[in-house]
Amino acid sequence: MSTGTGRGTGAGTAAIGSRRPTTWRNWAGTVASRPAREATPASVDELVAAIRGAREDGLKVKPVGTGHSFTAAAATDGLLVRPDLLTGIRNIDRAAGTVTVEAGTPLKRLNTALAREGLSLTNMGDIMEQTVSGAVSTGTHGTGRDSASIAAQITALELVTADGRVLTCSKDEHPDVFAAARVGLGALGVISAITFSVEPIFFLQAREEPMTFNQVTAEFDQLATENEHFEFYWFPTRATATPNATTAASARPLPRTRSAPS
Ligand SMILES: Cc1cc2nc3c(=O)[nH]c(=O)nc-3n(C[C@H](O)[C@H](O)[C@H](O)COP(=O)(O)OP(=O)(O)OC[C@H]3O[C@@H](n4cnc5c(N)ncnc54)[C@H](O)[C@@H]3O)c2cc1C
Repeated sequence: MSTGTGRGTGAGTAAIGSRRPTTWRNWAGTVASRPAREATPASVDELVAAIRGAREDGLKVKPVGTGHSFTAAAATDGLLVRPDLLTGIRNIDRAAGTVTVEAGTPLKRLNTALAREGLSLTNMGDIMEQTVSGAVSTGTHGTGRDSASIAAQITALELVTADGRVLTCSKDEHPDVFAAARVGLGALGVISAITFSVEPIFFLQAREEPMTFNQVTAEFDQLATENEHFEFYWFPTRATATPNATTAASARPLPRTRSAPS
């Protein structure tokens, strides 16, 4: 996120939560950058102060999650905003079926908190190490016949923009910003909170079995129709070597079941 031309006063270096920069690396170790400054805000006010300080000094700003992106999406030579202290559940609204969570909250922590309340996100990707904001900002998704990506499950965002304003965005408030910032790659501002639509907790029953590639493709429409989640892995070299082997392809249908109401 570009904060505009700064005056170079150096005032931002004293922003709350700032610390001496170190080399940042993504989770895979394939991307490294050396930010000019780092901030680990513990509140929206501290986040605003850090962004305003960066603006005064002409620094670009990039928020980072847990660095699970394989690309340089979170790399910066400006101000790196770390998520570690902006975590936790802000509010659970049972009537509305929503939960509002601080942007740096890891998905695994959100899932644990929701499960305790008998609630759940509708869909997930393969892992839950990411922050909610990182997962939303890149369109992280799993499989799903009727359920969509994590970004599709949000109903509102709180966003701190380059000039330090705090915007609440939803389909009713700043709808254009909401639409763009849903998968904003950290380029439109720093998300400080996200409201997710949630549902009563449910269970998924997984069935994993080897099938030939020909069988998977022949039955694909039926498998995708019958299962809420369906995916398969195909190893072409093995198929070429042993085309009839059952290990040539494996299908993993995951029929969705809900717990019986008590
Ligand atoms: C082992 C592994 C498994 C994975 N599985 C899947 C999968 O099943 N499905 C899938 O789709 N992806 C998957 N991914 C990719 C991963 O979900 C995404 O890269 C996700 O963005 C990582 O989240 P993060 O918290 O690490 O964010 P980062 O990688 O740190 O950042 C990602 C982007 O989000 C932005 N961002 C972070 N915080 C904020 C904020 N507060 N405000 C605004 N922007 C912000 C950053 O600037 C950056 O552009 C996987 C990655 C790994 C390493």
